[in-house]
Amino acid sequence: MIALMFGPPGSGKGTQASRVALRLGVPHVATGDMLRSEVARNTPLGHEAKPIMDAGGLVPDDLVVRMIEARLNQADARGGVLLDGFPRTVPQAVTLDAMLEKRSEHVAEVISLEVPADELKARILKRATTEGRSDDTAVGLAQRLVVYRQETEPVLEHYRDAGTRIEAINGVGGIDAITDRILQALRHNGAPVASS
Ligand code: ADP
Repeated sequence: MIALMFGPPGSGKGTQASRVALRLGVPHVATGDMLRSEVARNTPLGHEAKPIMDAGGLVPDDLVVRMIEARLNQADARGGVLLDGFPRTVPQAVTLDAMLEKRSEHVAEVISLEVPADELKARILKRATTEGRSDDTAVGLAQRLVVYRQETEPVLEHYRDAGTRIEAINGVGGIDAITDRILQALRHNGAPVASS
């Protein structure tokens, strides 16, 4: 099954996506992690992406789309994936849908994590002191939130218009409790969730 983990920066989507992917038995495909790995390995793609990421902007659609296409072609992605951080713009969503249609697949579920803005800021500034991500600064975060509202939130409307199932999940609470909320919603929709 192809599912999307959707939510603003700081909503915990990376944490939840890795836990939920395990239970669905599909790879967790996170474009942010893939891009950070390109940066760490000093690849040409990493060189292009780093300044954009640090400023809280979005790397060009074609670059991310190429990265995702290659990832979806790997053998372990044949049974589905849980996408995290992609699609982040409506053009990315349109391209993804076309890519999947060629394989007779489609996005089956969107999991939308909902967290109030004040809580997002508090979480990210706390993460800045522990994880040292170079985009977790007050300026980087403010810009990521603006970009999220302008470019990424419309992706939710895109899937709502397409009739895709969207699960709105309260993203405030303990990590386990939130995972349980997501799994319960997926189970309710008939998704194959393995017991832990
Ligand atoms: P967060 O959700 O906390 O902002 P991510 O790890 O998902 O963190 O993404 C970090 C950065 O990587 C983004 O701010 C952006 O610069 C870049 N990025 C990740 N995914 C995409 C994407 N699909 N399209 C464009 N840029 C992306």
